[in-house]
Amino acid sequence: MDAYDIDPGVAPAIANFRPPERLGFGDINAPVMFDAEWREGAWQRARLLPYGPIALWPGARALHYGELVFEGLKAYRVGQSRPNLFRADANCRRFTRSAARLSLATVPEALFYQGLGAVVRACSDIMPTRTGRSLYLRPFLFGTESGYMLRNSRTFRFMVIANPVEAYASAAMQVTIERAEVRAAVGGIGEAKASANYAAAMRASNAAVLSGRSVALWLDANEHRYLQELSGMNIFVVLDGELHTPQLDGAILPGVTRDSLLTLSKTLGYTVHERRIALDEVLAGIGSGRVSELFACGTAAIVSPIAALVESDGREYRLRETDIVAKRLRESLLAIQERRAPDPFGWTQELALN
Ligand SMILES: *Cc1c(COP(=O)(O)O)cnc(C)c1O
Repeated sequence: MDAYDIDPGVAPAIANFRPPERLGFGDINAPVMFDAEWREGAWQRARLLPYGPIALWPGARALHYGELVFEGLKAYRVGQSRPNLFRADANCRRFTRSAARLSLATVPEALFYQGLGAVVRACSDIMPTRTGRSLYLRPFLFGTESGYMLRNSRTFRFMVIANPVEAYASAAMQVTIERAEVRAAVGGIGEAKASANYAAAMRASNAAVLSGRSVALWLDANEHRYLQELSGMNIFVVLDGELHTPQLDGAILPGVTRDSLLTLSKTLGYTVHERRIALDEVLAGIGSGRVSELFACGTAAIVSPIAALVESDGREYRLRETDIVAKRLRESLLAIQERRAPDPFGWTQELALN
């Protein structure tokens, strides 16, 4: 991939960057952004710019037809002189599949890495170095052509923005069982990381928060019987001491954290199952004590314990244990991500700084 242009505003933007003590998750923007444009059938020379507003036609198809896919991954620099990326290759492959599902332009692997590399290199000196903290990277691709004709854009933009973030240490979640609405159906776009999936999930997510819970649990679209995932995290069930997670069925987002936990938990001695999991089985298991623990996983929180499942009428199914297996997995995975533990899977990748 050819070099990209660096705007003269980038150096002062980095020099003047003073993050507050509390970073939150996505509250603070890194002061730079990577921007590449697709037009006339080709990617144009990309630019690294100070972070700021972008110009867009009000008729842009991304705004009207949801032509937008994204990724989320973290770069770490805890106790290291150079940043390292965690499983960026898996995110790159998923980004390509998401774009293909929405028939958007393809971002070549070299451009994807160029974007990540440009942002991480520029931010290397301002990256958090305390354990649990990282630079969250958000690559995204969207259609910019104006017009309502039912076809894809012929112009696109690929951008990478970033956020210094802290460990997303929430209390164990109360999860509302969503029995009426549907996030994604097999054959739809549930397995693509598309912004439109979040649009479908937002009302139930809001309702969950309004009633004092954290998030909604989605069931399959056909029968409303089988677990899918939470609005932005995959789910695991600890049943008789073994790990179970819903099998990828075409509607569930294939999480990189989910995949990492499947591999890691085997090496920690757990038996793991990917299968269809009925909600009734989980609720009965919580009642009998055979289901001891539930947890969610995703890049943001890594592994997040669940305290209870709650019906819309307020009936609660409380877990016997919280954050026992979850904590063990979270700490093991974070140790690999921060390069405090050996990485037998080759998941971390150090970034050359020039
Ligand atoms: C991104 C995402 C996840 C988690 O995926 P990771 O690759 O582990 O971060 C789970 N569900 C949905 C709907 C997502 O968008």
